Amino acid sequence: MGGYRRFWDPDAERFPVPTWPWKLAPAHLKTRDQLVAMGLRPHQPITGQVMWNNKKLGVRRAYLYDVALAGPPKPRSPAQIASLQAARRKRRTCPTCGEVRAYTLSTALKECTTCADGQAVAA
Ligand SMILES: [Zn+2]
Repeated sequence: MGGYRRFWDPDAERFPVPTWPWKLAPAHLKTRDQLVAMGLRPHQPITGQVMWNNKKLGVRRAYLYDVALAGPPKPRSPAQIASLQAARRKRRTCPTCGEVRAYTLSTALKECTTCADGQAVAA
């Protein structure tokens, strides 16, 4: 296990925060994804991190949060909901024809498929 010692630093002597190899972190520390899977969200700054070496992507890290300080997702205020809805609507509004589409516009096309198809035909 080559990466084991490299990422073993629970006292944060070499890394800026306490660090463990992947899967070797203390049980009460969870990644955000693990908290979300438990129906929780982190409500505090990171407590540490896990690091591992991915053959393709190189050194990867995930931040850890103390599960005792995590809680249920915070309810969204009406203003937050309204701005989320506006943002979603904007992502469905074609800047070329101005139509609000039922789907989110492709970030590659930057317009609705009808407009993009029209361009492709014209080209
Ligand atoms: Zn369009």
